[in-house]
Amino acid sequence: MSHGWGYGPSNGPDKWEIEYPIANGPRQSPIDIIPREAQFDSSLKALKLRYDPSNSTGILNNGHSFQVDFTDDKDSSTLTGGPITGTYRLRQFHFHWGGSDERGSEHTVNGIKFPCELHLVHWNTKYPSFGEAAPQPDGLAVVGVFLKIGAANPRLQKVLDAFEAIRSKGKQTTFPGFDPKTLLPGSLDYWTYDGSLTTPPLLESVTWIVLRDPISVSPAQMAMFRSLMFSGDGEAPCCMVDNYRPPQPLKGRAVRASFK
Ligand SMILES: [Zn+2]
Repeated sequence: MSHGWGYGPSNGPDKWEIEYPIANGPRQSPIDIIPREAQFDSSLKALKLRYDPSNSTGILNNGHSFQVDFTDDKDSSTLTGGPITGTYRLRQFHFHWGGSDERGSEHTVNGIKFPCELHLVHWNTKYPSFGEAAPQPDGLAVVGVFLKIGAANPRLQKVLDAFEAIRSKGKQTTFPGFDPKTLLPGSLDYWTYDGSLTTPPLLESVTWIVLRDPISVSPAQMAMFRSLMFSGDGEAPCCMVDNYRPPQPLKGRAVRASFK
């Protein structure tokens, strides 16, 4: 527990619920997606992701994952369409993963866990900034992409190559010219539901858009994710693994599908 983030061997009931009572709220994430119970909604539009590779700025080990940050002072990297209204700007993307290939995703499908899940975080430009959008019920939209064991994914290489420079907590380096669209699967069919951040402060402000189709990752590439550290330089070494929150109760929420 020394990494102090609440992930750990007894992940089970949330360690966050004392400090963050919203951990037991009505629209917490992630969830287990049961495809046969998701309702096809013909009014759901196609996702439109327009990303400008020149907007990526840096990559950072934040002590619970690593994130790639984007400039978001203009409408140059945006998400529109899908289940959302208006324009949301890309802020950052990050991943969650397991200590082995048998677990690591936050969302599950029919109870099936994937080894890793990518989150692309966007904020609603009806608010003035990410910080002001983050607590609003329609403030954020996160696109989730599962990674599935298979062939090595060359699109991940630039990210993996940066790990050496961000091995421990607090380390960062520049990361220019990255197009996150290259990380998406061929089909953008998705499930959507109203949920929350999956890390403290667990704000119930996220429209989740979880893509049906996974992208591939090889076992060797997954091993590289596990070479990152939760710990900072000079602290007891602690590998960054199992940085996922398990599925939370649906509490009567609808999960809609963009596809039949
Ligand atoms: Zn996440």
